[in-house]
Amino acid sequence: MDYQKLADLLFPDVTETPADLEARFPARQLPEGAKVTRFAPSPTGFVHFGGLFPVLVGERLAHQSGGVFYLRIEDTDARREVPGAAESLITTLEKYGIHFDEGAILGSDGKVTDTGIYGPYKQSVRGSIYHVYAKQLVRDGLAYPCFSTDEELEELANTDKKAEIKNMDWENQAAARKQAMLAQRDFTMEQVEAELAAGHAFVLRILADGDGEKKVVNTDLIRGKIEMPVNDEDFVLLKSDGIPTYHFAHAVDDHLMGTTHVIRGEEWLPSLPKHLQLFNYLHFRLPKYMHISQIMRLDENGNKKKLSKRDMGANLNDYARMGYCADAVVEYVLTLLNSNYEEWRTANPALPYTDFPFNIKKMSSSGCLFDFNKLNDVSKNVLSRMSADRIYDETCVWAEDNDPELYAHLTADPDYAKSIFAIGRGGKKPRKDFTVFGDVKPYLDFFYDDLFTVKDALPEGTDMADVAAAIAAFKDTYNEADDTNAWFDKVKAIAESLGYAADMKAYKADPAAFKGSVADISAFLRLAVTGRQNAPDLYTVMHLLGRERTFARLDSFLG
Ligand code: GLU
Repeated sequence: MDYQKLADLLFPDVTETPADLEARFPARQLPEGAKVTRFAPSPTGFVHFGGLFPVLVGERLAHQSGGVFYLRIEDTDARREVPGAAESLITTLEKYGIHFDEGAILGSDGKVTDTGIYGPYKQSVRGSIYHVYAKQLVRDGLAYPCFSTDEELEELANTDKKAEIKNMDWENQAAARKQAMLAQRDFTMEQVEAELAAGHAFVLRILADGDGEKKVVNTDLIRGKIEMPVNDEDFVLLKSDGIPTYHFAHAVDDHLMGTTHVIRGEEWLPSLPKHLQLFNYLHFRLPKYMHISQIMRLDENGNKKKLSKRDMGANLNDYARMGYCADAVVEYVLTLLNSNYEEWRTANPALPYTDFPFNIKKMSSSGCLFDFNKLNDVSKNVLSRMSADRIYDETCVWAEDNDPELYAHLTADPDYAKSIFAIGRGGKKPRKDFTVFGDVKPYLDFFYDDLFTVKDALPEGTDMADVAAAIAAFKDTYNEADDTNAWFDKVKAIAESLGYAADMKAYKADPAAFKGSVADISAFLRLAVTGRQNAPDLYTVMHLLGRERTFARLDSFLG
């Protein structure tokens, strides 16, 4: 067979050579050790939470090393493509603080466009590039046209052996199919010409010369040395419409775009021998591979299950709806990815996560376990560390879509709202009142007169005469100019005057000697002013409400 002639026959329009492409996409000039990573999603309209793992690993490895992190849209499977999915994917990742240096970005018209010289970064428009390499493989005798699809081959195999088919087991069927396919390896030029003349479409298959009994070895970045059988399957490179399969596009794109580290889901691990063979056939330098395990969750019976599409928390967009801030989700993923992240965070509460020295060696090769309790824990800490301004902004963004009433209140007087958020914030041990943004309203609604209600009751057996007397005395002596100590001294004085212990130690030493303690007096005042037993610092609350509203609440509490 004259392979050059076959190549020209199959790809008459391809005039560029691989050398032309190498010149058009020159090797990147980067400092020693700089890593080039990419996120290469197939946009299906659903951004899986699990996608954040390769995204964050790729982003950290690239940016920590002074390299490049780029986005490639793998949209070669038209059946899975959802209009607008690429755009919403980019927008979602942006919310999580994921920025790409290069690749597909959102243009000012809201549509995906390119930045960078290694584009196009959308596979559906790279057709001519793949064909250059496809032609080379045919010319080298490493790929051949097959005029039957997998389905047709199956049928072919079955009709040929109609008699035996009933008793044929799956393995034999596969063998027969393979035989029918292999027969096309040896098509003569005349046979190929006849097929083309008859208008038959072909798929391009690799000519797998591997011996399946032999092993191929690769060192995965987290799994270590992996041995797998050499590929011996003539897998498809180009589908009958000329569109590449994932395998072929992966090799061509990651080579031309200069990817040094391929970080992807473990579902691609079984295909690795195919990729190793292809890189070899194409004389491409092999990137380093990291296959990240599926995210697991525990089911009702405590068994590990894949976090599947239908599970709560599988869709990245669920988190915003549930009221988690993006920072918390990212921080949670980092705690799962690097075993020493939490320790680092405790030691460095104020640093951005990008200061954490991310380390591949600290990654576990077994699947991460998704756990809402842990996420909640992380989220509480993240929200507690935020400045008042920031949590105000973030809550407003959430409330605008999810709680219009809260949104209206917060935005009516931003300074007032920010002062509320500022209570107990900024110190070494900040208050941890919120896990999700949905916790904000029940925490601060009492600051707004129209939302204020008395939610809790006084403890049973409370002497209402004492409550009335405490409130009256408090009003008599209240001075807004008092500092917090002077304010509390007055509360203590009221306690004493009513037969309640002013000093907690004295009370604890002999509770029977008192009607109660200063804590009870504070509780009366707190319940009257905030409507609840637990509330932020009462002195500050009273200052924010102002004398008039504080007194009005004290009065109305007594009825
Ligand atoms: N498009 C592939 C996927 O979404 C990408 C795998 C890879 O990163 O190479 O699974």
